[in-house]
Amino acid sequence: MSGAPRMLPETVPPTDLEPPVRAMRIPILLALPLAPLALLPKRMGSHVAASSLAAAWFVHFGALVFTIGEVAAAHLEGGDFGASSLTPDLTWLDWIRRPLAGAWLVAYEVFDSRGASTVALAVAASIEGALAFLALLFVPFLAAGERPPAVFLRSLKCVLWSSAVVVAFAVFYHVATPRQFSPSSVFRSENVAILCFWAWVIWWISIILRLGARYGGPCIGPRWTPRPLLCESCGYHLANLPEEVNCPECGRPARESLPGFRRLPPMATAPTWLGRVAGFFATLWQSLADARFASRVTVWNGQTAARRFALLVCLLGGVLFTLSLITYPQLWGFRSASNWAPVDLAATLLWCPLAAAVVMFVVLLLLGLIVSRLGFGQCYHTGVILCYCSPLLLLFGVVFLLCLTLATWIIETFRIRGMLVIVSRQIEIDKPLLVYAICLLPALFTLLFVVWRAARLFRAARYANS
Ligand SMILES: [Zn+2]
Repeated sequence: MSGAPRMLPETVPPTDLEPPVRAMRIPILLALPLAPLALLPKRMGSHVAASSLAAAWFVHFGALVFTIGEVAAAHLEGGDFGASSLTPDLTWLDWIRRPLAGAWLVAYEVFDSRGASTVALAVAASIEGALAFLALLFVPFLAAGERPPAVFLRSLKCVLWSSAVVVAFAVFYHVATPRQFSPSSVFRSENVAILCFWAWVIWWISIILRLGARYGGPCIGPRWTPRPLLCESCGYHLANLPEEVNCPECGRPARESLPGFRRLPPMATAPTWLGRVAGFFATLWQSLADARFASRVTVWNGQTAARRFALLVCLLGGVLFTLSLITYPQLWGFRSASNWAPVDLAATLLWCPLAAAVVMFVVLLLLGLIVSRLGFGQCYHTGVILCYCSPLLLLFGVVFLLCLTLATWIIETFRIRGMLVIVSRQIEIDKPLLVYAICLLPALFTLLFVVWRAARLFRAARYANS
């Protein structure tokens, strides 16, 4: 005698019920003194998100005033403002008072004339707009499962609090302005200054990611809400059907839509360090080549692992770009590396991977803007697939670099110059341009493949139950 067939449940229970961390509301008056703390430990993230938007903006405003003052102070010392704007007996008592006095002086100069005030207000509005856009970009990377408007608000607070990092940039600018350079200083090298800039950008990004990594808000949003059990291929409601049937709509076995079917990728499950390295490359390969990757990987769990994976892929992209630079410096307008000063060479080898990784990360975030419908669509689980799309960007980057290198090599080796004239049709074509066009064709095909593959990945995960 066989038992009654097991029936499919009506809803999928929320899979991850880990409670949010504790979050304290930071009073606006304490926001400024606590701002330096937000730049260090990860655990500040939940408190920062719990504070009011006014407190976040207060920190941001304070940091901007200090920065303007610090830069002004640097130029005042160099006499850039002319003697008239500087009170002769102005004494700089300490490092806090000096920038504040500088900021006051700038404000006095700027808001004196209507034209300068308009420019200053336009610049300020652009900066605030850019920061709001940055907050929007980070939405898929910071989403903790709350409702999309709440993610954006949290992201905005994290970005505003993290903007205190600009103070470090201002202090560096003050120290490193050309007049401060002694002949023996490493800052004489332009590449060291560029390295410092990119290290600062990476530091800022890491602060935003760390602040957003811990969620301390209310359990309201898609992560904590039971979802109807849908067929993962077509979205058909499978509730109360026997477990052994196929989907009546598309024929996919119903048990393949059960929450336990999707698994974490190899990188997230490896127990050892070496296993994680192997798992990283296995995940990389699967996301590029495995046709069923997006219908087998869990998207409602493993957010941290997915984000770490994407960041590592960006770093790998940076390293590969730097390798192309070493092997073929002429391609990027660099002189041959053999006659470089050691400090320039070392700084360039460090800033190139950082800069390329940041560019790749920003492209990924821009892609996220599209797939999360400007941050207001489903950003919690689509963010995971977005992270697993990062190898596609890497693939395109590698093919593009190879094609570009090949074209440049052909043009230089065979000294291809001038115009190609087709007399019968009276057409003139620039020969080097023709070589570039032909050599970049594989890159174009790769781009088409990347778009097709990314669309497939997102499509395969749109009705994911786990
Ligand atoms: Zn179906």
